[in-house]
Amino acid sequence: MKLNVKDTFNKELPADPVQENERRQVHNACFSYVTPKKTATPKLIHVSPEMLDHIGLTMEDSSSNDFLQLVTGNTVLPDTKPYAMCYGGHQFGHWAGQLGDGRAINLFEVNHKHQQWALQLKGSGETPYSRSADGLAVLRSSVREYLCSEAMHHLGVPTTRALSLAETGDQVLRDMMYDGNAKYEKGAVVCRVSPSFIRFGNFEILAARKDHVALKQLADYTIKHFFSNLGAPSKAVYVAFFREIARRSIEMVVHWQRVGFVHGVMNTDNMSILGLTIDYGPYGWLEDYDKGWTPNTTDRQHKRYRFGAQPDVVLWNLYQLANALYPLINEAEGLEEVLQKFRADYDQAYLEMMRSKLGLDLKCDEDEQLIQQLDQNLELTETDMTLFFRNLSGFTSETVAEGLVLVEDAFYNINEVSDKIRQQWNRWFESYAHRLKKEIQTLEERQEQMNKVNPKYVLRNYMAQLAIDAANDGNYELIDELFTLLKKPYDEQPQYQKWFAKRPDWAKDKVGCSMLSCSS
Ligand code: AMP
Ligand code: MG
Repeated sequence: MKLNVKDTFNKELPADPVQENERRQVHNACFSYVTPKKTATPKLIHVSPEMLDHIGLTMEDSSSNDFLQLVTGNTVLPDTKPYAMCYGGHQFGHWAGQLGDGRAINLFEVNHKHQQWALQLKGSGETPYSRSADGLAVLRSSVREYLCSEAMHHLGVPTTRALSLAETGDQVLRDMMYDGNAKYEKGAVVCRVSPSFIRFGNFEILAARKDHVALKQLADYTIKHFFSNLGAPSKAVYVAFFREIARRSIEMVVHWQRVGFVHGVMNTDNMSILGLTIDYGPYGWLEDYDKGWTPNTTDRQHKRYRFGAQPDVVLWNLYQLANALYPLINEAEGLEEVLQKFRADYDQAYLEMMRSKLGLDLKCDEDEQLIQQLDQNLELTETDMTLFFRNLSGFTSETVAEGLVLVEDAFYNINEVSDKIRQQWNRWFESYAHRLKKEIQTLEERQEQMNKVNPKYVLRNYMAQLAIDAANDGNYELIDELFTLLKKPYDEQPQYQKWFAKRPDWAKDKVGCSMLSCSS
């Protein structure tokens, strides 16, 4: 096993001089050195062949004991110095102070084919940032993170990746629903991979502590390695840096709205500076198209991070980042301009995205209304988002009356679809048919185009739960099946047709399927 290790973060940025692994406030540093916890009886459950390839390894490498020991934290490669990052964050709208990698340990960075990849173990023990928790992760949440990060990548959504999923053989105590019923669960470690795991919160903590020296070092480091096209750091480049982060964050959230992904905990410590989806916790997939839905039980009351609010939250989070970057610029104007343009930029990107979901190539004035009306109709009854859009690609302007029949499968309860609602739908199909007449593509062309943006298969919440239940019983076949299925989410894959279906009734109110806690 040969990896081209090339560390930059821990070589170019200030380290915490304290080496003891004790919980503490870490000042004047971007990270603390820490060694992963040794695991009892590690066992590899799954590896991502695509990710292996990206870092220059083969499937054969991944079956070696060296690989297993590395991705479970039992061995540290020579000449590498694992570390936990220091970051802060706004949680649910409030400044939370120092958070940091409480259970993530960065191993090293690999350079392969001119691409930099940071490898990070999630769930491999305590760090100075663990606060009152144990630094571990359970199998349940690790399966969810592992499967979803790779599935999101194959959906074309910017995301951190996952290299491997392993059981540790250790038992981890968790009170899953925070109701006093703590029990032991299987421990696991995911090896996550990303060009970088830097978050908005890495900048926020330094600004909050008025550590402008380290703040500049971190900004310059980030620009040099990940935004080098912007040029050498200067006030104007810091503004351009912020503009680019805003652009990428918009792109990311538009993709979420496209596929029906609800992150669940969009705190600023869970916002990647690279505009990647990061930290898969109590996320969920929209089944019923309901803009008010959030899977996160901790957010049940206010629903701050509900599906429909995700774009607004991105903006709110960008405000926090702007405040953190301000000391580098000392002029609000450039930053404010980016923030003020956000709405218009987002609306434009959203409109383009929705046009693509409807197979509309041309830009017509009536599109906005058509999309708004669709949005309202989808909320009239419980309607499955994925099924609806996938089936819609079969629609033609010649068969308006059959529109409803075409998407009927998407309705959870057909009795809910009253005559009045049918009429509303029929009116919408008429407008859609009318609009399609302006297009020049053939039905086949449109269908092909729509099927590239409307996935047939997503990691429905109950699917992940079935894989988890089986894994807890020692059976990993479903993890592999879902992993394989979700590599080609836009393909028909008739052999997997059973996963192209509405959420089954038993999963409607089941923990893990419609409700997820942060306890992981
Ligand atoms: P989250 O919002 O779940 O991404 O995590 C918020 C903060 O809690 C981060 O600083 C995490 O590192 C930390 N954290 C979450 N779970 C644990 C755990 N089991 N042990 C230590 N720290 C944790
Ligand atoms: Mg987090």
